Amino acid sequence: MKVLEKGRAQYRKIKNKIKTCSFCDPKVIKQQSVKSLEGKYWLVFANKYPYLDGNLMLIPKRHICQLEDLNTEEQSEFFKLLEKSKKALGRLFETDSFNCGINIGQYSGCSIAHIHWQLLPRRKYTQNACNIIHDLHIITMDHHELIKKLNRIK
Ligand SMILES: [Zn+2]
Repeated sequence: MKVLEKGRAQYRKIKNKIKTCSFCDPKVIKQQSVKSLEGKYWLVFANKYPYLDGNLMLIPKRHICQLEDLNTEEQSEFFKLLEKSKKALGRLFETDSFNCGINIGQYSGCSIAHIHWQLLPRRKYTQNACNIIHDLHIITMDHHELIKKLNRIK
């Protein structure tokens, strides 16, 4: 078993130094995008600095920082991709439990202004571990491995 929590800790150290939008950076998009889940208006990223195994992010392709700036096509496609991503994670992690959320604004804990939903599959053992040892997350799968596994799901 690999423990990759050091990546999240590393990210916390550099996040305030990032001046450009990572989600608009073609290099970042190439590294983290899950092509099999992508839509016309949305990217689906395997989080390079995951909160838990299987952490995906749904990100509009346009640089949008406020929910009200999403147009009707983007709003409509979001729920389709959320369902598609949830289904793929559900098959991969053998669960029907998920967390899905968004941080909006400077004081919300959001580190990148470009809006993005976090989607996390939850399994019984993970929930129990979080309840017993609060704030401890063991990451066993990096984003490359997650992308590879999700792209294999039909
Ligand atoms: Zn952006």
